[in-house]
Amino acid sequence: MKGFVAFSRGVGWTLVVVSLAMLATWVSAKGPLLALVQAQAGSHAQASLALLLAGSALLSGKSAPRTSITLSLVLALIGGIGLLEFVWGRDVISWHWLDGLLPDWPGRPTGRMVPPAALSFTLLGLAGVAVVRGRAVWLREACMILIIWMTMVSSSSYGLVLPGDSVILLRRLPFMTAALLFVLVLGWMASRPTSGLTRIAVANSMGGAFARRLTLPALVLPVVLTFLFRSVQSHLGMSESLALVLASVATGALVTVMITWVAFLLDRSERQRRTVHVLRADASTDVLTGLANRRMFDATLAQALQDERAGALVLLMLDIDHFKKFNDSFGHQAGDDVLRETGRLLGEAVREQDLAARYGGEEFVILLPHSDAQRAEHVGQRILAAFRSHDWPQRAVTMSIGVAVAGQDESPEQLVRRADEALYRSKQEGRDRLTLATACAVPGAPRD
Ligand code: GH3
Ligand code: MG
Ligand code: MG
Repeated sequence: MKGFVAFSRGVGWTLVVVSLAMLATWVSAKGPLLALVQAQAGSHAQASLALLLAGSALLSGKSAPRTSITLSLVLALIGGIGLLEFVWGRDVISWHWLDGLLPDWPGRPTGRMVPPAALSFTLLGLAGVAVVRGRAVWLREACMILIIWMTMVSSSSYGLVLPGDSVILLRRLPFMTAALLFVLVLGWMASRPTSGLTRIAVANSMGGAFARRLTLPALVLPVVLTFLFRSVQSHLGMSESLALVLASVATGALVTVMITWVAFLLDRSERQRRTVHVLRADASTDVLTGLANRRMFDATLAQALQDERAGALVLLMLDIDHFKKFNDSFGHQAGDDVLRETGRLLGEAVREQDLAARYGGEEFVILLPHSDAQRAEHVGQRILAAFRSHDWPQRAVTMSIGVAVAGQDESPEQLVRRADEALYRSKQEGRDRLTLATACAVPGAPRD
């Protein structure tokens, strides 16, 4: 997130520095950028001024929003005048003052702004205002995508011009203006990482991963490919149709690489998701019985006490009778088999929304949401009957059960304690039976 904001500031400063350097080139007719201007690849004086405004608007967007909005409006005005000139087909009075102010030197391009530059500056000015004011998110993103598209088309036509072709798409933007507009849009998008399309790119999700990895290659590749194949064609004297075929094949191959990449990412994420699922299930399952474990029970009970109204949540505590003696007589292994079989029988006795868990040792719990004492007693008696009638290999195994209905605002500890006390009474009264706990002592207890 911080990286995005830092990138945005970096773009702002780059724009200010580069556009000042460009203006200095125009004034002095000297400097390293002069070659670019003479090759008609550098930004014109008007565009340099517009880019300076745009960079400053981006830089001041957070610290001085009013200044930023004013700068963006002036930018939109400059672009708007350029558009007007294009539509009217004549100069707006005194607009080309900049041309008059600048010294004349051989090969100095003059005149109106090219329509894509004028449109881009208008849209960028409006988008800048929308970003700073936090309004019209999707409209501003649409403006920015349109600018990106225009800079892409212009730069790919530049990919043809560079090796000596004269194709002009969209009355080509000077390459420098196109490149600076492109990074400016990215800078504006990055300046508010939590909104618009940037939110998707920042997101810690599959969509975010795709956006981060694939957007830039998808934007830059067409320009690179056009340039590459046109250069290869002219250098090797290849026929146009052969170059076209090779370009199509290369495009297909690159699309395939991207699809494979996406597929790889999807596959990896799906496998990670499955591993997490298995680990989560492992962490909440009792290994011996296959029922939920104590951790799962504690979490579910705490949640259920919050979700359920008083009187609708019932807890059963179950304990195998004389299990120590069973272990002593038949061994620990046979004891484990009984616990496994107990897990199976309890699992069969409950509905999907109920929770049967191993509480510890030979003690189990069953949580019945949306239930009542009557149903709990019915479930308990059914379990007792199932144990009695089960064909145990060594000797009969029985259970004792304590049942408690959750009261108003009862804590998990209180509910477990009441169920445990009821279980203790079942043991005392001869085992292989079920005891209903006395109602919860806290105020507002259910009237059952
Ligand atoms: P009561 O009817 O009063 O519940 O008597 P009990 O013998 O079942 O109760 P006690 O708490 O004295 O003994 C519980 C026994 O459960 C002791 C322990 O050996 C056995 N036990 C606990 N966990 C396991 C286990 O994972 N496997 C086996 N085989 N036995 C276990
Ligand atoms: Mg026991
Ligand atoms: Mg016990």
